[in-house]
Amino acid sequence: MSDSPTGWRSSPGGLPGPGDGTRAVRAGLPEPVKHEPTLPGPVFAAHFHLPGDPTGPYTYGRDENPTWTHLERALVELEAPGRDDVEALVFASGMAAISSVLFSQLRAGDAVVLPSDGYQALPLVRAQLEAFGIEVRTAPTGGDAQLGVLDGAKLLWIETPSNPGLDVCDVRRLVEAAHAGGALVAVDNTLATPLGQRPLELGADFAVASGTKQLTGHGDVLLGYVAGREGAPMAAVRRWRKIVGAIPGPMEAWLAHRSLATLQMRVDRQNATALKVAEALRTRPEVAGLRYPGLPDDPSHRTAARQMRRYGCVVSFTLATRAHADRFLDALRLVEGATSFGGVRSTAERRGRWGGDAVPEGFVRLSVGGEDPEDLVADLLRALDESAG
Ligand SMILES: *Cc1c(COP(=O)(O)O)cnc(C)c1O
Repeated sequence: MSDSPTGWRSSPGGLPGPGDGTRAVRAGLPEPVKHEPTLPGPVFAAHFHLPGDPTGPYTYGRDENPTWTHLERALVELEAPGRDDVEALVFASGMAAISSVLFSQLRAGDAVVLPSDGYQALPLVRAQLEAFGIEVRTAPTGGDAQLGVLDGAKLLWIETPSNPGLDVCDVRRLVEAAHAGGALVAVDNTLATPLGQRPLELGADFAVASGTKQLTGHGDVLLGYVAGREGAPMAAVRRWRKIVGAIPGPMEAWLAHRSLATLQMRVDRQNATALKVAEALRTRPEVAGLRYPGLPDDPSHRTAARQMRRYGCVVSFTLATRAHADRFLDALRLVEGATSFGGVRSTAERRGRWGGDAVPEGFVRLSVGGEDPEDLVADLLRALDESAG
């Protein structure tokens, strides 16, 4: 049985499927056609030729687009390898994907559990959910604290590792409790990427992510997606995308798909360097609260190791004061001052400058890029030296 055009996805008799690199370079490619490119270019169409009775799939550009179809197949192959009962839907941004799950699944009178330490736009979403009569409960990611406020909820929203604090919760444990109480579970998989963690295999109903970060990795595209088992909940998400029209342009979808071919190379390189960076930073007395889930003695590591295959490219730590952190960021030469994370060029920011996250003033979120590890470590240690005092 082969469920992909190129046949390699099938794993007869439960044999292991192809490795991540093999999967990433081929994900979502259509059957080769002589004289056609391997990855067909973006299809720019607001509408498609449609004489007579309107039959699918391609009718109007807000509903379907062949460039999305290729990308959505690729995302299924990454989030749910070997499964043919999962579908993915692409969105204009991570927030479009997140909002589409929340607002399509919840009604007035329902309760939803969000992380209290999640992505900085979640408080805005919370205010909107409450305006629609939805009860919002929050608890921290660490210690599986969301379990304590789950009773009677309709949907549990998990973000693990959490951004920017890098706490981790036990997805299987939370899913079991949520399902026992009749709640659906969505996991924000942005930081891990599907090569780091596969929420659907851990039992979640939705894997949701911003593709803006490490998934596409070049800092030039905004994108989001939702993956989940085919059925009523995903149909409601699809309907919501049609209603709000939060669709990616064909060019963005194509750029994202093109970027997936290097996903395993980027992720392996960036994540390995992130571990080296964390190991170098931990030797410095001025660095406090260092967090990287891949460090064996990080508070997140034990749980992370049970459910993650790679630990991400984000390292966070705290310098004593806001001024110290600002001097450090100014002194960096290879690390650009910018928000977001996951790109091939390292970036860092003092997270407190936004005012949204509950972090100390000197808290730095560092996103490790594709530079040579020795160069990056040297730059970071030099900047620490120069900013001391
Ligand atoms: C960036 C981010 C989002 C939002 O994604 P956009 O593409 O910027 O809309 C959601 N969740 C997490 C964890 C993020 O880092």
